[in-house]
Amino acid sequence: MKHIFPDYYKAFHCIADRCRHSCCIGWEIGVDEETLAFYDGLLQSDAPLSAKLKNKLASSLCRGEEGATFSLCEGDRCPFLQQDGLCELICHLGEGALCQICSDHPRFYHFFCDRKETGIGLCCEEAARLILLQKTPMTLLEEEGSEEEESFDEQERQEDEAIIALRDQMFSLIEETEDWQTCENGLLSLVSAQNTPFAPEEYARFLKDLERLDPAWDDLLARPVFEKGKETIQQPVRRLLTYFLFRHLPDARYDGKLTERVCFAVFSAKFLLALSKEDDTEDFCNLARAFSAEIEYSDENLSAVLSYFTAD
Ligand code: SF4
Repeated sequence: MKHIFPDYYKAFHCIADRCRHSCCIGWEIGVDEETLAFYDGLLQSDAPLSAKLKNKLASSLCRGEEGATFSLCEGDRCPFLQQDGLCELICHLGEGALCQICSDHPRFYHFFCDRKETGIGLCCEEAARLILLQKTPMTLLEEEGSEEEESFDEQERQEDEAIIALRDQMFSLIEETEDWQTCENGLLSLVSAQNTPFAPEEYARFLKDLERLDPAWDDLLARPVFEKGKETIQQPVRRLLTYFLFRHLPDARYDGKLTERVCFAVFSAKFLLALSKEDDTEDFCNLARAFSAEIEYSDENLSAVLSYFTAD
């Protein structure tokens, strides 16, 4: 099976103790069954592990009907996040001791009939820098993966091909158009979406009422908005649009929300542009990271935003 990934993908490395928005704070950490069995084995064995770490591991595992999680400490910190920003489990047991969600993050995957796509998520500040701040357009690279192709029927294959072709067309349009309005109109017309007036202030009010991860998001939403449109689109904005479409369009195969997903990408990018400080790419990057953490990484919020863009 082909493995497809953005050109920046392999450059990603967690910056651990230098990270200002650690994913080890504020998020629920689910422990998958395989890793739970590994931890249980460690607790029952004579593994050379200090009694303190064993006790901490035993007391941090919270087992429930829906699986196990690590119970978070004060400030919603992962119990294994050290004051120096490093992970205690990695320090003592190596990266192989991480549960699936921790070793995967911030990677995401899409499975098609004959290809697997992998990307890195914008909620991670190091990933955000790679996604948004490079000066060239994002390109997709391909290599032969180890996974076997799944069996699939012709209709599935056609649906895959259609969504990939549409997305490629959108990527080209994003690179080829000069100003925002032409780009917005072009993307929306590819899915026959009505370009109804979009009010950033109203979108901000709507986002403010959603589930909150970090209270600092409220301050960003309270910023004054400045609509932009006629000027040349800057590369970070093109890259943000490309990222949103790369990440979110494939799921339209499952929920049929193709138009909503395109509107989400277009208007969220427009909103973040309107909220950002003039000519400050670092600020745009920070805003996009916060948006991703609050919206993309909450199933509930993402679903609410897709409904917001559902035509009446
Ligand atoms: S958010 Fe990214 S850079 Fe920061 S700790 Fe998590 S994976 Fe590492």
